[in-house]
Amino acid sequence: MAARLAGSRSGTALSAAQRGPLVSCRRWAGATADTVYDVVVSGGGMVGAAMACALGHDIHFGDKKILLLEAGPKKVLGKLPETYSNRVSSISPGSATLLSSFGAWDHICNMRYRAFRRMQVWDACSEALIMFDKDNLDDMGYIVENDVIMQALTKQLEAVSDRVTVLYKSKAVSYTWPYPFSMADSSPWVHITLGDGSTLQTKLLIGADGHNSGVRQAAGIRDVSWNYDQSAVVATLHLSEPTENNVAWQRFLPSGPIALLPLSDTLSSLVWSTSHEHAAELVSMDEEKFVDAINSAFWSDANHTDLVDSASSVLHYVVSILKPTKVSARQLPPSVAKVDAKSQVLFPLGLGHAAEYVRPRLALIGDAAHRVHPLAGQGVNMGFGDISSLVHHLRTAAFNGKDLGSMSHLTGYETDRQRHNTALLAATDLLKRLYSTSATPLVLLRTWGLQATNAVSPLKEQIMAFASK
Ligand SMILES: Cc1cc2nc3c(=O)[nH]c(=O)nc-3n(C[C@H](O)[C@H](O)[C@H](O)COP(=O)(O)OP(=O)(O)OC[C@H]3O[C@@H](n4cnc5c(N)ncnc54)[C@H](O)[C@@H]3O)c2cc1C
Repeated sequence: MAARLAGSRSGTALSAAQRGPLVSCRRWAGATADTVYDVVVSGGGMVGAAMACALGHDIHFGDKKILLLEAGPKKVLGKLPETYSNRVSSISPGSATLLSSFGAWDHICNMRYRAFRRMQVWDACSEALIMFDKDNLDDMGYIVENDVIMQALTKQLEAVSDRVTVLYKSKAVSYTWPYPFSMADSSPWVHITLGDGSTLQTKLLIGADGHNSGVRQAAGIRDVSWNYDQSAVVATLHLSEPTENNVAWQRFLPSGPIALLPLSDTLSSLVWSTSHEHAAELVSMDEEKFVDAINSAFWSDANHTDLVDSASSVLHYVVSILKPTKVSARQLPPSVAKVDAKSQVLFPLGLGHAAEYVRPRLALIGDAAHRVHPLAGQGVNMGFGDISSLVHHLRTAAFNGKDLGSMSHLTGYETDRQRHNTALLAATDLLKRLYSTSATPLVLLRTWGLQATNAVSPLKEQIMAFASK
């Protein structure tokens, strides 16, 4: 598995010492019977499946042979279950546009999703809040079950089955890169071995195999990564009474953020990031205790102190004099009455970022390239953003008759996306750390920061524009 890329970033051969273990760089003379694909996407989660759809539905790749490899089975929903799934994603308008571009968004609209028009984020240690809303009543984003997204993508993959081959239950177990590029008898393509022993080749390998990416490891691409001291507990919640339910709520508790995302007039989805111990306790609680814990996490002011409240009131007063009409008042989220049986599940959280997104004949997308705390609801949106950018650069190459696996356009993708993704990762990590404390100086700092940001409309608009990509 531990094949290393034979070429350096510029495509020239590395020294033997740089290349790592020789066993991983075996040559492929004689392997000519393998099918050669133009593009293989390894990993058919939301990002990999969307990448294969985007290529399959784009006329610029009409003459290309495309393969999607997915280790898991094909997920067929059949009739949409009445019970909502506990795994949902907040989808940005930019991501919805990408999904629309190859017809998947229509399927989502025909199944189910919930638009939200406002988002309130507030601090459990003070009165500070930020309210994002759209003056023109545009949607800020959409809460969609991951299963619904996958179902829509599967349908759109089936629609291009003549152009995109999908192999389910097919795990790639090793990748071997062309080495050295100049040797006449070595194959110039990436070789992939599947779990059943079969082999194939590709001119461009797209790694979309999640945060433990085998593609990234096989390529020897370093990544910065660490586990957070938090797990996220998810669950499907029944509200005490029907509401318009078009607001996404997130409150920063000292132990981590808790979010309530709208699903319907009476249902919302919970994402509660907290210490591993507390998360384990939450998932094993009986329903009544769990519901009390959620309501108290949103409503209790037990973490407030007089000093912070006074300082916050002073700033609030100053801002209200300077901007009499525009300062949003805190609203309380709907209360929760019930939890869907067995919907309480936890996920350990972490951060990860690949030092490089591309190598000759290789590109990483989605969680294979970056993993982010869910507090910003951006993980899969970043992956969809990667797709828009990579398809754009590959389209130019295809239009000009260029090699899709060449670094000359792959680096354009890397530059575009690293700029966006590193900013988001850094901001998310900073927020996670800034809010993981109830130390008064930091609470004061973030209280004033949040109140000031809330009062400055152009700044809020910039944040909204960045997050809606
Ligand atoms: C609690 C929680 C809440 C979240 N909420 C949001 C949100 O609101 N909005 C948002 O944008 N993001 C959110 N995220 C993040 C989002 O879920 C992830 O970013 C997204 O699922 C990553 O998708 P992916 O396709 O890149 O990776 P994955 O979902 O990990 O998919 C990888 C796929 O590759 C396959 N695979 C792996 N290895 C191989 C192999 N060797 N061969 C073949 N196939 C292979 C796997 O079977 C899998 O299907 C959240 C995450 C969590 C944990």
